[in-house]
Amino acid sequence: MSLLELRNVTVSYPGPRGQPVHAVAGADLDVLAGRVTALVGESGCGKSSLGKAAVGLLAPSGGTVRFDGAPLGALGRGARPEAQRALQMVFQDPYSSLNPRRRVGAQVADGVLAGPDADTPDIDAKVGEVLERVGLPARIASQFPHEFSGGQRQRIAIARALAARPRCIVADEPISALDASAQASVAMLLADLVKETGMGLLFISHDLSIVRRIADDIAVMYLGKIAERGAPDDLWRAPLHPYSEGLIGAIPEADGAGRLPADLPGDVADPAEPPSGCRFHPRCPMAQRICATDQPVLRPFDPNRAAACHFAGDRAT
Ligand code: SF4
Repeated sequence: MSLLELRNVTVSYPGPRGQPVHAVAGADLDVLAGRVTALVGESGCGKSSLGKAAVGLLAPSGGTVRFDGAPLGALGRGARPEAQRALQMVFQDPYSSLNPRRRVGAQVADGVLAGPDADTPDIDAKVGEVLERVGLPARIASQFPHEFSGGQRQRIAIARALAARPRCIVADEPISALDASAQASVAMLLADLVKETGMGLLFISHDLSIVRRIADDIAVMYLGKIAERGAPDDLWRAPLHPYSEGLIGAIPEADGAGRLPADLPGDVADPAEPPSGCRFHPRCPMAQRICATDQPVLRPFDPNRAAACHFAGDRAT
């Protein structure tokens, strides 16, 4: 069973003329225990809005979000803090997500005190243990966030989330603000923690080369909708959706591995004025007449793969 289950979720903002703009337009997503689910796509495709809806930071305007089988928006007064503890978020910018005026140890202790270890007789020892688990020495607990690099700060933010002993973490572009040298190590740390603890991880990123290294399942998002879902090896070997193929083809390493670069012209369209039919059709090198009029639905092709393209069946065979 999914730890985190999103069904037909819509997230809307008021548009420039007061009309609702759907940043997420009916998306399904599952995060399973002990697995890394990656949500990928270009900037502006709605993946951060979907991540915020997944942890309850944004109220969906439609659809349901369930955590551990219970609707997130309908949890009772007693259950909501427990869901907040068990479902943690790691943000993109570790410079703003940590309080610059509080010592590292105090911020990690907030997580300990919110979780099942709150009654531990030695909070400082628990804080040190969590810091060491994310690859930092326990002695940094007495220091302030500004004394650390971006990668170290993100490790501190992960320690704060981990200290509450969550069952699931949603990490929204957790490596995009980091130096290249820190990106892979922070991503690998998160993946290792999933294997160690059995928690679920939703890893939101536009960096497909790192996603391929850590994800068990990948959901490709385009303009508010899931375009394709599958295992990394399947997606790289034979993408069913032309958008997935374009994203993968744009990775320099993929060219080196023998794949021809795919053409992905233009930018993501304005969600205030989404194209008719398939939202990808103005950019799709394989578009046919039907694509401009009929919206494709996300169809399963085997238990682990699905794609929303009228011609995905031709590519699957
Ligand atoms: Fe391209 Fe048409 Fe498939 Fe959309 S439905 S991805 S436009 S071929």
